[in-house]
Amino acid sequence: MSEYSEPAKFIDLVAQQKLIRSKLDIAIKNVLDHGQYIMGPEVKTFEEQLKNFTKAKHALTCANGTDALTLALMTWGIGRGDVVFIPSFTYVASAEAPAQLGATPYFVDVSKDSFNIDSESFKQAIIDCRNEGLNPKCVIAVDLFGRPADIDVISKIAHSENIKVLVDGAQSFGASFRNTKVGSLGDITTTSFFPAKPLGCYGDGGAIFTNNDDYAQKINSLRLHGKGSEKYDNVIVGLNSRLDTIQAAILIEKLKLFEEELKLRNNVANIYTEALSVKYLTPNIPDYMSSAWAQYTLILNDKDRDLFQKNLKSSGIPSVVYYPIPLSSQKGYSHYPRVSSGVEVSAMLSKSVLSLPMHPYLSESAQNKIIEEVLKN
Ligand SMILES: *Cc1c(COP(=O)(O)O)cnc(C)c1O
Repeated sequence: MSEYSEPAKFIDLVAQQKLIRSKLDIAIKNVLDHGQYIMGPEVKTFEEQLKNFTKAKHALTCANGTDALTLALMTWGIGRGDVVFIPSFTYVASAEAPAQLGATPYFVDVSKDSFNIDSESFKQAIIDCRNEGLNPKCVIAVDLFGRPADIDVISKIAHSENIKVLVDGAQSFGASFRNTKVGSLGDITTTSFFPAKPLGCYGDGGAIFTNNDDYAQKINSLRLHGKGSEKYDNVIVGLNSRLDTIQAAILIEKLKLFEEELKLRNNVANIYTEALSVKYLTPNIPDYMSSAWAQYTLILNDKDRDLFQKNLKSSGIPSVVYYPIPLSSQKGYSHYPRVSSGVEVSAMLSKSVLSLPMHPYLSESAQNKIIEEVLKN
């Protein structure tokens, strides 16, 4: 396709790879040479770098972002009979992790301004849950599209009720809240290095962050089959969930570009917002936080979204609906309880959101073309 007919990729992993391909080849070759494919030296190095980057006291890598959530919940012994509050507008993994452990995902509505868990809905859900005789243990605050949840408000409500705060930062690695980086927010924070996330590897990967020494020790055991002080000493039932050494080697190279990429994503977002906020609801990032811009998502209100997408597509502009169905309405999850005040905002968003191309290497001309075409709708 010509440059003109395809002005933009939704996410561009090729442009980034071109920049560092020779370094990646060397990094991968080093792993092939030393042969420590599992928990090799690059894993330790990358974990040190994650600690430096996030300022979290502990950073432990694992196999993927879903396992990261599962490991966090297992650290707190969450399982059958326990309630875990989940925003109903999120990716399935946020609810899948507690459900797999036999816990009960309890759906809470989100705020239209943040796409994240709504504090009033959360308060109501706690009341409902207690009235129903259920046992609330944890809230998963998802940083949807890269924007941190309002963690101070959520933590205050949660901690006053003895509820643990798990930040699902799968989309927000690199973002910050009141000058604190994602990783140091909440009781435990998790992230994902799935290729399309802000910091992605070339396969699956994830990490867990905490400032609590006891949690860190337990996470380390759980990710390695529940090991004790010796490898063949199994003290608890755990998982096999490790980041491959090759993926760590790749992530070390990608992390070197990451600060710059965050700036570039932010520039792209600012240009979109300046041009599009006259006509559409654009993402709202308060000045006390920064987004990692995993997605740039508009709310189209009553516009015909299918037609909108079709028009963009005919001009060669990709767009994606994240997420077309609230989790609380998904077939596999609709039997779980939800807040009595309803999840109307989640339902509204799933009908009216649209994400535009977003990556650090979106050229000015491509972005201008996207803006021009979007404004025609
Ligand atoms: C991607 C994602 C996950 C899961 O990460 P994987 O590495 O794909 O397992 C969890 N939560 C959210 C919000 C995500 O976007």
